[in-house]
Amino acid sequence: MPDTHLPGPTVFGRIALIGLGLIGSSLARAIKARHLADLVIVTDKQDAVRRRAGEIGLGDEIAPDAASAVAGADLVILCVPVGANAEVGAAIASSLKPGVILSDVGSVKGAVIAALSPLMPAGTHLIPAHPVAGTEYSGPDSGFATLFENRWCILTPPEGSDIAAVERLSQFWRAVGANVEIMTAAHHDLVLAITSHVPHLIAYNIVGTAADLEEVTASEVIKFSAGGFRDFTRIAASDPTMWRDVFLNNRDAVLEMLGRFNEDLAALQRMIRWGDGDGLFDLFTRTRAIRRNIIASGQETSAPDFGRRAAEPVAEAAAATRPAVLPNKKTNS
Ligand code: NAP
Repeated sequence: MPDTHLPGPTVFGRIALIGLGLIGSSLARAIKARHLADLVIVTDKQDAVRRRAGEIGLGDEIAPDAASAVAGADLVILCVPVGANAEVGAAIASSLKPGVILSDVGSVKGAVIAALSPLMPAGTHLIPAHPVAGTEYSGPDSGFATLFENRWCILTPPEGSDIAAVERLSQFWRAVGANVEIMTAAHHDLVLAITSHVPHLIAYNIVGTAADLEEVTASEVIKFSAGGFRDFTRIAASDPTMWRDVFLNNRDAVLEMLGRFNEDLAALQRMIRWGDGDGLFDLFTRTRAIRRNIIASGQETSAPDFGRRAAEPVAEAAAATRPAVLPNKKTNS
């Protein structure tokens, strides 16, 4: 049974968050706003980020490093780029207390399990997670407490995981406003390859292609970007480190989905070449229906500007729920 702690439930006594970018700082804010822990200890490898965390009041304590942050924690969440999990895992393993749940937020799950499983001391629980929520911004100032509301968080417990630990972590994610789904890491990586990783690759590619076109000037690319291009540029502005790690760590699933994508693209190319208007019309009708389903499921707004204007009040609302600068007990800066 969770402790009760007005005005909301305290799901864990002590939570440690490692990495204070978009996701880590959003979690710190959401945990505080919803009173989900007695104590939140945060840290990041960069001095400047830890200092900034103190200035904006992320967490109750700022630890000088990951090992001291996790000491005594009941829940540890690694919020670092996928490729950094092994290094952080090695640094904290001997400081994890028995019974702790170690989780993460990485966009790839098989590689994270492979990196962390061998490091887990007996009596601790590795329950990886991926909140399917984000923006193209990074760093401690980019987070907001409402980021996870009505978004999905996918848990990928390895075979044989402790059922009670999985339930506790599910309860935590539901408490920050997310819907929880449980699946295998392999299935997660395949689904996310097509819904997230390949779309990002396409955006990076098309923006790169436009940037390289010699006959089109940079000013024209910007001036006429409302024709569709600008929506790709938003995605292509996403964090380079994070996305480099995603593609290096979900190689097989991404290559599999890219193969399918290339085949379908070749079919489209043929329809255009042979003037197959019916074929094009049929495909575009099917894809429009998918967009409508996404809007109907509450995962997107129907605003004609892809929700940009609607996002402003959301961001303001998020700012309003951010904790005011808290009297942080800063152990390092
Ligand atoms: P971010 O804004 O770049 O923040 C990551 C933070 O972790 C940075 O401050 C980084 O410092 C720090 N860090 C890196 N290595 C570290 C280490 N060894 N020890 C301590 N701190 C370390 O990234 P993010 O967007 O929050 O993404 C974090 C994770 O969430 C990634 O695994 C990503 O796949 C996942 N995710 C992201 C999104 C999204 O939309 N952004 C959505 C869902 C899940 P440096 O800047 O010095 O590297």
